[in-house]
Amino acid sequence: MALLVHYYRAALTKLPQLYSRGLHAETPVVYDVVIAGGGMVGTAMACALGNDPHLRNKRILLLEAGHRKRLDHLPASFSNRVSAISPGSATLLASFGVWDHISSMRLKPYKRMQVWDACSDALITFDKDDMDDMGYIVENDVIIAALTRQLEAMSDRVEVVYRSRAQGYVWPPAYHSTDISPWVQIQLTDGRRLQTRLLIGADGQNSVVRRAAGIQSLEWSCNQTAVVATLHLSEATDNNVAWQRFLPTGPIALLPLSDTCSSLVWSTTSEHAAALLSLDAENFVDAVNSAFWSNESQLDLISSAGSLFQSAFSILMPSGTSVRQLPPSVSQVDSTSRAAFPLGMGHATEYVRHRVALIGDAAHRVHPLAGQGVNMGFGDVASLVQHMSKAAFNGKDLGWTSHLLEYETERQRHNLPLLISIDLLKRLYSTKQPPVILLRSLGLQATNAMSPIKEQIMAFASK
Ligand SMILES: Cc1cc2nc3c(=O)[nH]c(=O)nc-3n(C[C@H](O)[C@H](O)[C@H](O)COP(=O)(O)OP(=O)(O)OC[C@H]3O[C@@H](n4cnc5c(N)ncnc54)[C@H](O)[C@@H]3O)c2cc1C
Repeated sequence: MALLVHYYRAALTKLPQLYSRGLHAETPVVYDVVIAGGGMVGTAMACALGNDPHLRNKRILLLEAGHRKRLDHLPASFSNRVSAISPGSATLLASFGVWDHISSMRLKPYKRMQVWDACSDALITFDKDDMDDMGYIVENDVIIAALTRQLEAMSDRVEVVYRSRAQGYVWPPAYHSTDISPWVQIQLTDGRRLQTRLLIGADGQNSVVRRAAGIQSLEWSCNQTAVVATLHLSEATDNNVAWQRFLPTGPIALLPLSDTCSSLVWSTTSEHAAALLSLDAENFVDAVNSAFWSNESQLDLISSAGSLFQSAFSILMPSGTSVRQLPPSVSQVDSTSRAAFPLGMGHATEYVRHRVALIGDAAHRVHPLAGQGVNMGFGDVASLVQHMSKAAFNGKDLGWTSHLLEYETERQRHNLPLLISIDLLKRLYSTKQPPVILLRSLGLQATNAMSPIKEQIMAFASK
C-alpha cells in the first residue's frame, strides 16, 4: 500500500512537468516566445529574455537547426571566424553574465584603428586612451560557447531544442476569430507542433521566418568575397591596433588576436578570392604583406595633392593630425584556416508584423568593412528585450504589435543610416576614377583632422 501511495505521489509530481513539456504534449502548449535560430544573435536574445525580471514567468523556447556548440576545451589555435565587438555589445553581454565567460576564454582588446587608402595613402585613425578599449576581437565560436554556457545556467527559464528547424508556420489573423488559433503555429521537421504568442526570427540572412511572414527584403550583392585566415606575425608586439587598407579590389583588414597572431578579413572579387585560396602558404603570405605595403596602386598626382593638404592641416590644426603607424608584417598562415565567404547587403522592409519580429542578419546584412553586423544584431536584442520587458510589466500580450513597432522604429533609425553609410563607403572605395579618389582622400584627411567628428563616429560605432 505504502509503495502504491509512493508511486501515486511520484506520478502526481511528474504530471505538471509532462504537461509543461510543450514539445511532447498532444495539444501544443502555447509558448510566450519562440526564437527561431540560435546563432550569436538568437542565443543572445534567449539569454537576455531569460535574465529579464519582468519575463520570469514566461515560457521561452530557442530552436536551433545546428547542434549545441560548447567549447569544453579551448583549442590552442584561433578560429578563422572572428568579430570586432563594440563596447556597447560587450556591455549588453555583460548584463546577463556572458562577457565574464568570454573573458575567461579568449579575447583581444584593441585601442587604435588605422584605415588608409591604397590609392593615395590618405588615412584616418581612431584612438582610445590607455584606460579604455576601442573594441574587442573575439572568435565567433567563443561568443557562441559563452552564450551556450549561460543559457544552460538558465535552463529553468529558457528551453532549448537543438537540431530542430521549423518546416512551416501558420500565421494568426490580426483580428479576433473563434475558429482560428490566435497564436503562431509552428510545425517542426520531425512532425512536432507548437504555438507561440511571439515568434522571433533570428535565423540569419536567408531567414525562413522573414520569407514565411511575407516580409520583403531588399538585397544586393557586393560582388565581393571575404577571404579569412589566421596569420602569425613576424615579431611579437602589443598588437592592439586594428588595421584596414582600402585596395581598389576591396578592403583588407588585420585584426589582433594575441601578441603574435592576427585574423585576416580580405574582401575582394570572387576571382581574386579563388586565386588567393589556391596559392601555397608562402605565396599567400607574400600576397597579404604586399596588399598592406605595396604602393603600386598609388597615383602620384593624388599623393602629392594629399601631402599638400595634409601639411596645410597640420599647420592649421596641429592637434588634429595623427601619427601614421606601419602595419606588422606577416610570417605565416595557419594551414587550415583559409576560407571564403560571399558578401552581400540586405535590409528587411519591416522588422515586425503581428506576432513576429526579426533580429540580426534576418533583418539586415552588411559588408564586414565596418565590423558592424553582429553588433547591429546585439543592438536589436537590447532594444527588443527592453520593449518586451516594458510590455510584460504593463501586463500586455508580448506578441502585440504596438510595442513591436516601437522596437522597429528605434532599430531602423539606427540600422538604416549605418547600412547606407557602409554601402556608400564600399562604393566610394571601389572606384578607380582619379577625381573621386582625390575627393575621397581629401575628405578622409579632413575628417581625420577634425576630432569632434571623429569622436561622433567613434561614439556611433561603439554602440
Ligand atoms: C567575413 C565576415 C566577417 C565579419 N566580421 C564581423 C565583425 O567584425 N563584427 C561584426 O559585428 N560582424 C561581423 N560580421 C557579421 C556577423 O558575422 C553576422 O552579422 C552575424 O553572424 C549574424 O548573426 P545571426 O545570429 O543574426 O545570424 P547567423 O549567424 O546566420 O545565425 C543564424 C542561425 O539560425 C539557424 N537557423 C537557420 N534557419 C533555421 C531554422 N529554420 N530553424 C532553426 N534554426 C535556424 C542557423 O543554424 C544559425 O545558427 C562578419 C561577417 C562576415 C561574413
